[in-house]
Amino acid sequence: MVSRTLTAELTVSPTSSNRGLSAAIDACRPELASAQVSDVSAPPRISVTEAASRPPDQDARAPQTSRAHQAITAVVVFGPLLGTAVAALMLFRDQASVANLAVAVVLYLVTGHGLTAGFHRMCTHRAFRARRLTKIVLVVAGSLALEGGVLGWSANHRRHHAYTDVEGDPHSPHLSGRSLIGQLRGALHAHLGWLFRPQPEARERWIPDLLADRDLVVLDRLFPLFCLASFALPALLGFAISGSAAGMLGGLLWGGLVRVFVLQQATFAVNSACHLWGTRPFRTRRSDQARNLAALAVVSFGENWHNLHHSLPRLARHGVGRHEWDSTARLIAILEKLSLVVEVRWPDADVLSARRRRDVPEER
Ligand SMILES: [Zn+2]
Ligand SMILES: [Zn+2]
Repeated sequence: MVSRTLTAELTVSPTSSNRGLSAAIDACRPELASAQVSDVSAPPRISVTEAASRPPDQDARAPQTSRAHQAITAVVVFGPLLGTAVAALMLFRDQASVANLAVAVVLYLVTGHGLTAGFHRMCTHRAFRARRLTKIVLVVAGSLALEGGVLGWSANHRRHHAYTDVEGDPHSPHLSGRSLIGQLRGALHAHLGWLFRPQPEARERWIPDLLADRDLVVLDRLFPLFCLASFALPALLGFAISGSAAGMLGGLLWGGLVRVFVLQQATFAVNSACHLWGTRPFRTRRSDQARNLAALAVVSFGENWHNLHHSLPRLARHGVGRHEWDSTARLIAILEKLSLVVEVRWPDADVLSARRRRDVPEER
């Protein structure tokens, strides 16, 4: 049982905004909203909202594509790629140090889980509630992943769930035609092409609950600062470990550029590959092509069990099979044991069984 004091400290999803919160989250799955909410012992059923039932073309108009937006996106996406090419060359010439690699791995784990546990499962899907400090730490860690501020990220992602693989989905690979060229173009669009088009975030519509959280608004505004910190931190760590300028540059290269590149690609692959290849053991909307792609389990921290996630988006665990690696769920379980998060929506065996497709044999 959560104490009164602790409840008061749980600032994600304040009680006063529960209606807006539920409305926005229900908007993620229009026709499954009520079933899904009761599936995971969530608050009382709430009818499908005006937000979800409005067709996508009534979203806030997509901003005009600007050269500045495209240039910034190109730097954020291709800069790390270039850095990774240089790092690969250094590795080939045996010029990479173990310390630099360690900095990269540690920051990959921290920022990646900030993204999956903080941005995705906590803020976007409300799979659990966190103490204020825990919430801030998770969101700061996610912001260091360089995939945008928490508010825009969550708004785009809720829109993805509401219009999965139909018109209105910001990054579906299935909307560019069925020809080979169309499929290739769709895959490229889902992977990173969509980033070059400014998205109609329509924040008031999709994330009213997050906008009501002052901490999240402030953290979102600080995103440019987190971009700088994302590179300054590994550079400083590299310098602290080696005491040399070469060590600092190595830290920047591996802990900054390479780490951002790999994490970006892992996230992009969930948007593209996990809607193209893999298994679909759980029922989703007919148009929804989300799939479980086991190969991405480790690098994506369990976000690859995308079919289950689209079937039951509010669950804190995505890898529900015996051998389905989901380190994000493990982190949430540890935080729960430490009482840093509560009201975790863990999967229920009966609900999973009800959502399982009858034509797909259960894995033992
Ligand atoms: Zn998806
Ligand atoms: Zn999601």
